[in-house]
Amino acid sequence: MPVLILAGLIMGFYFIYSDKAGSVGKLGSVKNKDLVISQVTFDDIGGQESAKRELKEALDFMKEGERVSELGIRPLKGILLTGPPGTGKTLLAKAAATYTDSAFISVSGSAFIEMYAGVGAKRVRDVFARAREEARNGGKSNAIIFIDEIDVLGATRGRNQGHMEYDQTLNQLLIQMDGFSSASDVKVLVMAATNRVDLLDDALLRPGRFDRIVSVDLPDRIARKRILEIHSKGKPIASDVDFEELADESYGFSGAHIASVANEAAIMALRDSKDEINMEDFKEAIEKVMLGEKIDRKPKDEDMKRIAVHEVGHAVMSELSNPGSVAAVTVTSRGKALGFTRQVASEDSVLQTRVELEDRIAMLLGGAKAEELIMGSRSTGSRQDFDQAVEAAKFMVECGLSDMGICGVGDGFADEVSENIRAVLRQQEERAEKALKEHLNFIRNMGELLIERERVSGDEFREKLRADLELAQAQ
Ligand code: ADP
Repeated sequence: MPVLILAGLIMGFYFIYSDKAGSVGKLGSVKNKDLVISQVTFDDIGGQESAKRELKEALDFMKEGERVSELGIRPLKGILLTGPPGTGKTLLAKAAATYTDSAFISVSGSAFIEMYAGVGAKRVRDVFARAREEARNGGKSNAIIFIDEIDVLGATRGRNQGHMEYDQTLNQLLIQMDGFSSASDVKVLVMAATNRVDLLDDALLRPGRFDRIVSVDLPDRIARKRILEIHSKGKPIASDVDFEELADESYGFSGAHIASVANEAAIMALRDSKDEINMEDFKEAIEKVMLGEKIDRKPKDEDMKRIAVHEVGHAVMSELSNPGSVAAVTVTSRGKALGFTRQVASEDSVLQTRVELEDRIAMLLGGAKAEELIMGSRSTGSRQDFDQAVEAAKFMVECGLSDMGICGVGDGFADEVSENIRAVLRQQEERAEKALKEHLNFIRNMGELLIERERVSGDEFREKLRADLELAQAQ
């Protein structure tokens, strides 16, 4: 379901033969490790409140080492942070080191993987030895080793056929974590990150190893706002910048994406020799992070007109069913998209209703429908819209939200399910046709404006559509 929700952000007119169906809405992983903070604290991390709370609770054991041993509590050996890339797992580990006044060492799971026998295991021993040494050198009694992408190293033993080496390395990690190797003055806590906890060897998750699992999710709206504020600190921000609105528009972004938005916005202001970063810079930065750099592919006039009409079709359907939902309509080519309509997601909803799914399908089909009505035919640019519409219709039918009611999804129902998917699509296509026919002049005029300006804001689009609706009512 998250894929479906994420994909709801934009509808585009795509260059044909896009090889990654649905990839645009899913956002590529952005690794932005350039936050220059020598000592990361929990306050430098936006959102993730429950992860921070759980972590602090666990770390308090480390801080109160003596009391813990007096009470006979087993010391904490490992904390596993699970969640998608760019959500701040590395930052949390760094903040944990600051919080506990520990030495900090970061390694990637893949750094241990070597084909030569015994090398991986030796590297594990070396890392633990280095962590202790760094702590001693810095006069600290704790050290934290952060292992990113632990699934590379900690996948179920025996899975890598013929790769006994992986198993030896993992065994060595377990031995080190059990603390058999040496009674030491420095206590070592291992923090590891993964997005695939299901791949990990059970032995890693047993008590005394990674017995705390902290989930680190994509930020919600409030967290996105906070992260934007954190990454805008110290930058000259113009007074028209509304972080609340930007948080709405960056739905589905990870912390790393948001850090990139702040950075890109600053670069745009610099490119235009401005003293301050304004709202327009931020909005363009969101589009860039979402879809990629602008490209110089200039479609021929006829295609340009088609792209514009297609986007206006999406936007009209979006506004008619959800007033206020269009953030911007654009005919600038970015990445694989030739044009796109960006929607605002005002709330982080976790469920979808039949009406919402139907609205979405009608919106997705609105692009091709507008082409058909204005240009007289459809084109290949709707391929991805259709993929997403079919996906949404299928989801709707499988969730028992179509006219067919509750149904099975197994083999026996396959024909019935596909028939219903087609029925849902047909209904929404008819709905889009009926709605768009009422606004043919508006679509033509708005299409021309778009070609002239490349981009029309949601507010301006709404204002003009409202005028058109009033005109239709008056007639
Ligand atoms: P992960 O380890 O989960 O892949 P990172 O901690 O490496 O993610 O995050 C990458 C970058 O993204 C950070 O350096 C920071 O700039 C930004 N970032 C991610 N999450 C947050 C957050 N919650 N608050 C502030 N910045 C964040």
